[in-house]
Amino acid sequence: MVRSFCPKCGNDADVFYDNVCHQCFIGNKKLLGSPQIVYGRICPTCGSVFRKGRWQIGGKEEDTVNSFVKENLELNRDAKSVELVLTPKQLDYSRYKVHVEAKGEIKGAPIDAVIDTEVRISWETCDTCSRISGGYFEGIVQIRADKRLPTHEELKRCVAIAEGVAARSQEKGDKLAFIARTEELPEGIDIYVGLIKLGKQICRAVMDTFGGKITESPKLVGQKNGVDLYRITYALRLPEFVRGDIINVDGTVIEVQGCGKHVSGIELETGKRFMENFNDLMDVKKLSRRDDAVSAVLVADEGKTIQVLDPHTYETVTVRRPEFLSVEPGNEIKIVKTENGIFVLP
Ligand SMILES: [Zn+2]
Ligand SMILES: [Zn+2]
Repeated sequence: MVRSFCPKCGNDADVFYDNVCHQCFIGNKKLLGSPQIVYGRICPTCGSVFRKGRWQIGGKEEDTVNSFVKENLELNRDAKSVELVLTPKQLDYSRYKVHVEAKGEIKGAPIDAVIDTEVRISWETCDTCSRISGGYFEGIVQIRADKRLPTHEELKRCVAIAEGVAARSQEKGDKLAFIARTEELPEGIDIYVGLIKLGKQICRAVMDTFGGKITESPKLVGQKNGVDLYRITYALRLPEFVRGDIINVDGTVIEVQGCGKHVSGIELETGKRFMENFNDLMDVKKLSRRDDAVSAVLVADEGKTIQVLDPHTYETVTVRRPEFLSVEPGNEIKIVKTENGIFVLP
């Protein structure tokens, strides 16, 4: 291999950049620069970061600190394939020292740099957090049930649904989509929301699961920059009937499997499936619940009818044989006793 000399410094070299050796080429070139001190604003409550004139969702504190440094790095315009390693070290509650190691190349010549920058955090409460702490809300979702009290289970699920909807909206950047507070009442639960839109979304999601209906009542609460400000109350009523209710629908006794816009279930006398639009039903009455079922002995199976021993009167009762029955005589089945007679449960 032929050794060559650098025409600039006269040293031996085997690789040349712009006809000079690596050292001469890199010379005073700087891969990157940074201000000695970098400033940033973070919300101490939610970690939001003030960036480009507005509050934006932040991440882990160290990641945010690193991002402040990166945003302020001045990278050599000719540099390519730059790799950065940032190591933040907390000095006190509002100061970090960030050690930056950088590697890259300029016209193929490797170049690196090491810089230390100080980050100073100004802790400021963001718009959303100040609204939250100020008790701000735009809507109330009042969850009740029609002609009954909502069950504890239903309310728990409603709150979980509401929290899920709020979290998804916040992930999409709707920072005001927060739940300000929830109030448990004997008749249901009130969910206070930071955004009208969120109230509506929660209602829709709850109704997707449970059915029910809502009425909206807006109330003028003031003005801002000449625009009327409203607060909306969504009164949501969960359906009267829930899964497991035994109801009489226009003369047919069914066990409810779902109740929303439609009532679905099993016709207990025949075992056939039942599905009707709730509003088309004329006369609906609750008779019993699956939880009230008792065990009874199946005495005989006569094909079209069966005989059941009433566990209370010890009388043998003949009822129509439902399609779903698969138990042999002599075994126990679940029955409900209602004002319309005895019914076998699937
Ligand atoms: Zn040289
Ligand atoms: Zn905040």
